[in-house]
Amino acid sequence: MCCSLNIEDRQVPAGKPEAFDISAVKGMKFFDPHVHMTSRTTDDYQAMADAGVVALIEPAFWLGQPRTGVDSFKDYYSSLVGWERFRSSQFGIKHYCTIGLNSREANNEALAEQVMEVLPLFIYKDGVVGIGEIGFDDQTAAEDKYYRAQLELAKEAGLPVQIHTPHRDKKRGTQRSMDIAIEHGLDPYMVIIDHNNEETVKEVLDRGFWAAFTIYPFTKMGNQRMVEIVKQYGSERIMINSAADWGISDPLAVPKTAALMKLNGISEKDIELVTYSNAITAFSQSGQIDEADFAVSVDQSAKFEGNTVLRGGQQPRIDKSSIIIS
Ligand SMILES: [Zn+2]
Repeated sequence: MCCSLNIEDRQVPAGKPEAFDISAVKGMKFFDPHVHMTSRTTDDYQAMADAGVVALIEPAFWLGQPRTGVDSFKDYYSSLVGWERFRSSQFGIKHYCTIGLNSREANNEALAEQVMEVLPLFIYKDGVVGIGEIGFDDQTAAEDKYYRAQLELAKEAGLPVQIHTPHRDKKRGTQRSMDIAIEHGLDPYMVIIDHNNEETVKEVLDRGFWAAFTIYPFTKMGNQRMVEIVKQYGSERIMINSAADWGISDPLAVPKTAALMKLNGISEKDIELVTYSNAITAFSQSGQIDEADFAVSVDQSAKFEGNTVLRGGQQPRIDKSSIIIS
């Protein structure tokens, strides 16, 4: 073991309200079912491990700019089941992923056709817990076409589906995503509807789907709103995630929200369900998740195809709080 900084060692700045102190959930385990670690740093991995994140799911998405060829998709999918999983293991976090053609790039039909052909080469690999993130962005005809095609693929593979709902016209996009999933014969219990808000949650739960919430600064959901949602709707089939990516986002959103829930009187059992167990229940329908695998032992000198997270003779980091960088 190395590198573990106890949460109580952290200095909470004087005068900061108690609600910002993550120590309220010290000792709890967390599962972040939507986080794009490829875009994050090793410091993020370390901070997540320190805060109790023991496992995560990295959905396939776009790079922030359009890909120009199918090989770029192939290398990306390979990294999700290869190098990134290894990198995560170096911080003691079990890494899973979902594989899919994201909604934005479904609009490049010539490329989308080629991506559909390679998807079956990746979705059956070890640690792939679903098809995702797929769904609607602008709600175009091409997005509709490849969303349907990937639902069929999920059905064939017996995998859960992780659905990205649009930022614009969210309510209609969410309803449409659910209608189409049902039309294609998917069991709502196999479908995780993501990026919910106050406007969509009731219908998603009433129709038997899983409702995921992204705690994302300034846009999707603040975590004080999330506390209110759990107070109102309870913890059944609800899960929260950070969706941290290359944008302004927070990879500690799950443990921070858990702490805020605790300080707002939500029971530890309910917190545990929405920040850990429900995601495991939903995605373990893939047959790919075993909680016993979460206790990853850390050896930062380990190698993946000859490469390590240590650069040029670095020693594994021991004391993260030291200000000396040697
Ligand atoms: Zn995402």
